[in-house]
Amino acid sequence: MKLNRFVLILNFSFLFVLSSCSTHSADNQYEENTSKPVKNIIFMIGDGMSYAQIEGTENAIGKQLEMRKFPVSGTITTHAADKRITDSGAGGTALATGFKSNNGMIGMKADSTAVPSMLELFAEEGKQTAIVVSSGITHATPACFVAKDINRNNYEAIAKDFAESDKLNYFIGGARKHFVDREDSKNLLEEMTAKGWQFFDDLENAQFNASANAALFMADEHPVAVKDGRSDFLAKGTAKLLETMSMQADNGFFMMVEGSQIDWAGHANDSAYLVTEMIDFDNAVKAAVDFAEKDGETLVVVTADHETGGLTIINGVEKDYSSVRFNFSTVNHSAVAVPVFAYGPGSEYFTGMYDNTDIIGKIMKAAGK
Ligand SMILES: [Zn+2]
Repeated sequence: MKLNRFVLILNFSFLFVLSSCSTHSADNQYEENTSKPVKNIIFMIGDGMSYAQIEGTENAIGKQLEMRKFPVSGTITTHAADKRITDSGAGGTALATGFKSNNGMIGMKADSTAVPSMLELFAEEGKQTAIVVSSGITHATPACFVAKDINRNNYEAIAKDFAESDKLNYFIGGARKHFVDREDSKNLLEEMTAKGWQFFDDLENAQFNASANAALFMADEHPVAVKDGRSDFLAKGTAKLLETMSMQADNGFFMMVEGSQIDWAGHANDSAYLVTEMIDFDNAVKAAVDFAEKDGETLVVVTADHETGGLTIINGVEKDYSSVRFNFSTVNHSAVAVPVFAYGPGSEYFTGMYDNTDIIGKIMKAAGK
């Protein structure tokens, strides 16, 4: 059993507020604005994020995360078809498609039948679509929304599915190498360019517009961790694509955003890594809810595919948080349930405790399907 003390992260400059600030009051909630039907959907996944990751981060920074201010919350179970503890392949597939799958599989039912994701279903309805992640774009969670594969590690085949998809309009993430440095010697970026895709490698200079699909590669493989200097592209890229799509998408849009490295911090049992990745993801949540508040026709759903690290919060013998500690119980995923937060029209469908396969039906119901 490994104890990761908060003192390990007290070196971070953002921790100066750690003292008497309550993170548990119900004030400062986002006001619900449900008078209009849902036109846009922003679906956000904190990979490996459950209640202790949220509570622990709030304790560490001394304030509420944006996701906690959402007016509606629920809880989902996360098991895979073949295992009680899911991986991100089966977990992402359940969220994206509504079907249980086996660990390691992407966009397929356990019998390896390919099934459409909500991104693909909304694209067929004429909505624009986008994915923004802090891992490689071919990694398990984003892959579940675009690719179909029996093995999540078939990165080159998954990149090919991205290249050949006619359902995806924009993406931001890493894994450029799986598009250009391939065993089949193909250059998928050239093939995509021929079909009208534009590619960028710098967020400030990325010119997203209505006339072309576009991708922004933030790394050849995975973007580095926030603690190692990653920029705030998750929040800024989310905001930039929301602005682009809101100006051009007459039928609305579907966007998936993942805080990918919350999971990796859990695997590493690294509380400083965890807190910084949670803040990065929550900044993207803030960008989404800021847009949704102004827009009034946007549903924001924040959830997770599973918990990672078997994290608990222990001690807390003082009145403040000075003695509270992160306590990881595994370097793997755990079977505990994870939260769902919803804001915007249709958010009322997300209360209660249900299964990860139920999310897509609730989103479709909210969208009038
Ligand atoms: Zn994991």
